[in-house]
Amino acid sequence: MRLLPVLLRVLPLAPLISALPPSRSDPNLSLHQLLDIPIIKDIAPILSDFRSGRILDEIITYLLTHIEANSLFPGLRQVLQLVRDGKADRAGYSRGLLKSIQAHPKFAEAFASLDNDLQDKVTAFMNGDSAERIVKKCGFSVPLSPAAKEHFKRMQESGITPSSRRWLNSKRETSPVIYEDNANSKPMTVYTAAEFENWGLTVQHTPSYTFVPTTIEGVKNLIKWAKVSSKRVRAAGYRHTWTNMYSQDGEILLSMLDLRTATTIPDCSSILPSKDYTGSEFKRIELEAQDVPGTSEKKRLARIGAAVTNEDFRRWAIANNAWTTPLNVVVVEITYGGSNAPMCHGGGIRHKTISDLVRRIEYVDANGEHQSVTNPVQLKAAAGSFGLLGIVTHITIELDAMSYANLRPLKQEIGLAIPPPKDFKVPAAIREAYTPAELEAARQDFIQKAETNYYSEWFWFPYQSKAFVNCWNNTEEPSGLIDYPTYPDLFLQWLEGWLGGVINDDPLFRAFPGRWQAVIFSSLAMLSLPPNGPLNSQIKTHLVNALHFRRGIHNMRVRDMELQIPIPPLASDPTKPDWTVAQRAWWDAIDAVYADPKAPMRVALEMRIMGDSDVIMAAQTNNKFGTVSIEVLTSMAAAAEGVWEPFVQEIATRWMNYTGPDGGYLNTRPHWAKEWDGMKVRGTPWKQYLRETSYKDEIPAFKDALAQIGQAQGWGLQDLKDRFSVPLLDDLFF
Ligand SMILES: Cc1cc2nc3c(=O)[nH]c(=O)nc-3n(C[C@H](O)[C@H](O)[C@H](O)COP(=O)(O)OP(=O)(O)OC[C@H]3O[C@@H](n4cnc5c(N)ncnc54)[C@H](O)[C@@H]3O)c2cc1C
Repeated sequence: MRLLPVLLRVLPLAPLISALPPSRSDPNLSLHQLLDIPIIKDIAPILSDFRSGRILDEIITYLLTHIEANSLFPGLRQVLQLVRDGKADRAGYSRGLLKSIQAHPKFAEAFASLDNDLQDKVTAFMNGDSAERIVKKCGFSVPLSPAAKEHFKRMQESGITPSSRRWLNSKRETSPVIYEDNANSKPMTVYTAAEFENWGLTVQHTPSYTFVPTTIEGVKNLIKWAKVSSKRVRAAGYRHTWTNMYSQDGEILLSMLDLRTATTIPDCSSILPSKDYTGSEFKRIELEAQDVPGTSEKKRLARIGAAVTNEDFRRWAIANNAWTTPLNVVVVEITYGGSNAPMCHGGGIRHKTISDLVRRIEYVDANGEHQSVTNPVQLKAAAGSFGLLGIVTHITIELDAMSYANLRPLKQEIGLAIPPPKDFKVPAAIREAYTPAELEAARQDFIQKAETNYYSEWFWFPYQSKAFVNCWNNTEEPSGLIDYPTYPDLFLQWLEGWLGGVINDDPLFRAFPGRWQAVIFSSLAMLSLPPNGPLNSQIKTHLVNALHFRRGIHNMRVRDMELQIPIPPLASDPTKPDWTVAQRAWWDAIDAVYADPKAPMRVALEMRIMGDSDVIMAAQTNNKFGTVSIEVLTSMAAAAEGVWEPFVQEIATRWMNYTGPDGGYLNTRPHWAKEWDGMKVRGTPWKQYLRETSYKDEIPAFKDALAQIGQAQGWGLQDLKDRFSVPLLDDLFF
């Protein structure tokens, strides 16, 4: 009886079923043998019909007709059927996915690397316990991933312990002892020849030494030693940047976070009590005693250590309930030193970049001296200087008085969330018939959100018929405030991130065609976001919580390309913005996703509307009407298959092609921290295009401003190149 609805649904797929490879029905094959079977990848896609429901039908049908595949993913078919029927709930779907991969070697490996306590919690969840019940038992412990365990084993063997250091020293040069204090009593932690890799796995190298400083004195001593030793020094925070702006082989990396925190996935800092960082000068938040004079709104400065993370700051802001940053990156596992260097941003037309909020930069210069910059003109270069100025120790930021966000998350039909531009041919799979009046009302609604909301952001998860709209306003009135995400929700977010990370790396999951992977991920994303309904009109939370409305993102590595497209003036009225560029960019991306049957975009399309920037090298600089900040994200599996890079080049080609009313190309620029290096703009290598076109005026202005700072502080541009640059920055600036 239960098969009947499935079979009815399957009937229209009859031609597809006959095209499937013959079923292999040897139930005695081991998982390892099955890993070698090209079982599923070869299925011919239902071209031009990539809608989530059809793809779900395709998976369900396949599993129904292929016993061995079905038995490899027990329960998957049933849980996908619930999604297909609109009956799946968030916890049930995650639980079903976890159980379906439970017997896979990758799951076993990931599960074994969790500590006992966390294993118990995951097991309890898989056995049906609710998130509420599990968090009541309280307490998380930080599990190390197998990669992290291996990493630490290697590092321990390479010079961190006195005995291994003695052994190493007898074999090669003496590892330097850098003191963190004037009394020379506290040597800085150092790792010898520890391999570096960034979070997105796009950068790998082996610096000679990786230092972990905790004092300004230590950084000064280190730079003095590096100067004598002719070494370059680069810092790193959480390693979330995709471009290669870190250290290099044979040079010095300075990790502002202890290595365990910087390299462990999953990261549990958002669900654990705060650690005691009293020993680190870079983990402090110091609020000034007086408001900033002469501003129309209430503002206050806070001196923030470069190693303070967004999660540290969020907790501080909630505890004080007085001051907040008005904008930030969504992810909480990001350091202030790290997000300031490449000029990161949040969302909302009235907001610029994080670097635009900086009122003082403190840094250790190329001579090993601790310096600061407060001159507003010089800050336009110093605040967003990619680490070239030196090692930033503290950033003083202008905060707003705490306010409260009225979150109004909405899942809205894709054709109406951001309606397509007039001439646009919407992919057939998601095309719906709307009246001109409906489309015009949707356009006005979109413009209103973009032009007036405090925060405006849209997501599309591949092949879904709905977008997730995250646009909201704030209020000073705190009644009805809740902690958001709530604590049980945090557990689910952590778990969803961990689950995403496991299936990201699971060779069996990777044997699925890309579109299947994409829909399994995108269904998870849609279910994990708040449902439409009365609850949505009641979420009021501290502004800083709303900025970081999703936690656990760090637990699943992704690849990401993001461009900042200037909003041009209307041809008919140059005093007004032309929003069609945002509509076009959004729909061009969706169209490109449908145009490639290999499903290169398996995670999300995300668009935020934001303001411009006054920081010289920011990608939003000169965007008088604001910026369309738009990005595509995918899984590590898509990148490994080689389908991601051609796709992002295609997207970049489309997004770089937009022109303004004068017919000239808009000055669209990439997010410095994301993927662009190695790609081309109309045939020109992107690096060269940035140098010669996008930043043709800004690069000389930036260097002049740095040179002026150096003139007063005793260093020159050559010192910056020698001490703090990397090949990518050499190419751009020197
Ligand atoms: C999942 C995800 C989501 C993201 N979302 C957003 C977003 O919403 N908005 C956005 O704008 N960006 C976003 N990013 C990009 C991210 O904000 C940047 O990559 C940011 O630089 C990461 O901070 P980090 O602490 O990991 O720094 P890292 O990546 O470790 O370092 C970034 C750069 O800063 C330099 N640096 C770090 N610390 C110092 C220091 N103390 N002194 C001098 N130089 C230093 C490093 O050398 C490096 O060049 C996202 C990234 C990820 C992975």
